[in-house]
Amino acid sequence: MTAPYDHYKTIPNPPAKFTQKKKKPKMVAVVDEDNCTGCQACVPFCPVDCIRPVPPEKYAIPIAPVQIRFNECIGCSVCARVCSQLTWDAIEMLPTAEFEAKYNIELTDALTPPYGRLKTAASPL
Ligand code: SF4
Ligand code: SF4
Repeated sequence: MTAPYDHYKTIPNPPAKFTQKKKKPKMVAVVDEDNCTGCQACVPFCPVDCIRPVPPEKYAIPIAPVQIRFNECIGCSVCARVCSQLTWDAIEMLPTAEFEAKYNIELTDALTPPYGRLKTAASPL
């Protein structure tokens, strides 16, 4: 028989201090905002502190869902594990190339520009 807390064993401790992305990751976390409860349980676990509530004007509801600052994400998947183990299952880890094609965003190695660069006809990949 397993102890009740076995369910939580895959969840790491929150980071002692936040770091920063050093290169473009292989995976990117994406929150399904329609599934996110806005509980923010995932927020303190992100080692680069890049999970934030979406701007309040986007949803006319008291508790807004969260979203990732994509260009800061290091693809560690901690947030997805926390969400699925502690609360819901609202975070999907996407391969970076798939993410860029799906959302028309080009991520960079650096932290600037801060949210990635929207691909345009004038600046295709
Ligand atoms: S833990 Fe899941 S449901 Fe809660 S805010 Fe984070 S993504 Fe949303
Ligand atoms: S995968 Fe999640 S926890 Fe890890 S850096 Fe990205 S947003 Fe933060």
